[in-house]
This record gives sequence, C-alpha cells and structure tokens, in this order.
Amino acid sequence: MRILISNDDGYFSPGIEALAEVARGFGEVTVIAPERDRSGASNSLTLDRPLSVRVAANGFLYLNGTPTDCVHVAVTGLLDHKPDLVLSGINDGANMGDDTIYSGTVAAAMEGFLLGVPSFAFSLARRGHEHLATAAMVARELLERFVRDPLRGPMLLNVNVPACEPAQLKGIQVTRLGRRHLAEPVVRATSPRGETIYWIGPAGAAREAGPGTDFHAVENGWVSVTPLDIDLTAGSALAGVRDWIGTA
Ligand code: MN
Repeated sequence: MRILISNDDGYFSPGIEALAEVARGFGEVTVIAPERDRSGASNSLTLDRPLSVRVAANGFLYLNGTPTDCVHVAVTGLLDHKPDLVLSGINDGANMGDDTIYSGTVAAAMEGFLLGVPSFAFSLARRGHEHLATAAMVARELLERFVRDPLRGPMLLNVNVPACEPAQLKGIQVTRLGRRHLAEPVVRATSPRGETIYWIGPAGAAREAGPGTDFHAVENGWVSVTPLDIDLTAGSALAGVRDWIGTA
C-alpha cells in the first residue's frame, strides 16, 4: 500500500512524525507537509507564485504552501503513482464541528478525497501533544481495519481522539459534526508603531454537542469518526428559495 501523509502544523510537528511512524508499518510512505504552521488554512491553493519542494534531514518533503497545495502537488504530478490512502495529522488540537470548515488538517484529507483517494484526518483533541501515543494507536487500529476491509468508494473520515491514556478510551463512535457557538471576539491591541492590530479570537465553545455528535463522543472518552462530504447544497432550503425566486 502506498500512503501519502500531510498535515497543517508543518513538517516538523511531532504529530506528523507519529503518523508517519504508524504508516510505515503498512507500506510505502511519502510525507509532504507545509514548511510552517498553516493551521486554519482551510482548502486554500497557492495560485499567485510557484511552489518549491525541499527534503528535510529525516526524508520528509516540505513545501512553501498550504496543506491543500501539498496533497494536490503530490497526487497530480510529484508522485509517479496515485496513493492508495491519504492521511493528515495528527493535528495538535481538535477539529470538530465548525472547525472542519477552517481546518487545514481536514483540508489536506479532503484534497485526497477530491482526487479520488480514501482519506483520513486525525486530530488529538487537546493541544500540546500529550497522549500523542494514544492517537497514534487509534490511527494504527483504523489502518489495520482499512487493510482488512477497504472502504467501498472514496471516503473522507474525520477522526478526533480524546487526550487520555489508551486504557481510558471507551471505544470508537461514528458521529455527526456538532456545532459551535460564534467565535470569541477579535482581540484588539496596539502595535509598537501605534497601529491598531487584531488577533482572530479562539473558536466558540460547543453549542450543539448532544449525543451522536463528535463533541459528545470525545467529551465522554470515545474516539469520534465522522464521515464527511463536500456538497454544500442546503437541500432543505431548495424549495423555499425556489418560491422566493419565483421559478419552477
Ligand atoms: Mn493544526
């Protein structure tokens, strides 16, 4: 099996090293990741300048672009084959609910999915890399499952792992995305040159976080696996908008 790995935290992140270590047990691994932390990059592609790929001392490739650039460049030309699997992560922090819209971790996996490759995004739910070994163990279990029983058709799975000891994990739940409250207000400050500057504030707390959601699973010690799709059409709004526009 040929596995392509990326992330959004950068090629130097302990999370991507842990994921590559797991993946090596399953086949031939290529790692290509952003040269710096691009968390929050979402699905952006770099279209206004060329991209360069360099090789780190450990063999990982790194690129002066986004997570989506990494997977796109690899699958559409840098690799001489189409990978059998794209893995992204292990992200330093959760990617649940609305986070998935902004996440570069999810975006890297989504790019694999868009290019027809089964893809997994892995996130460790609390920042700081503590219990990275737990997330690596979960990744290994899911890869073992994938080898035994490959997913039928392209599949994009968003995996969030509680930050705890492996023995404290309750198991795996297949979930839907929850929702967050509105983000915290922007943080206003003054630059050394007297300009007003702004820091984007943290994500809002979980709002829709009942049973069945990713938030609820992780909060209660379960690994959350959410299958994602890309169609943003609001099916339930089609009829109402047709009425409003006045078309058939
Ligand atoms: Mn990140």
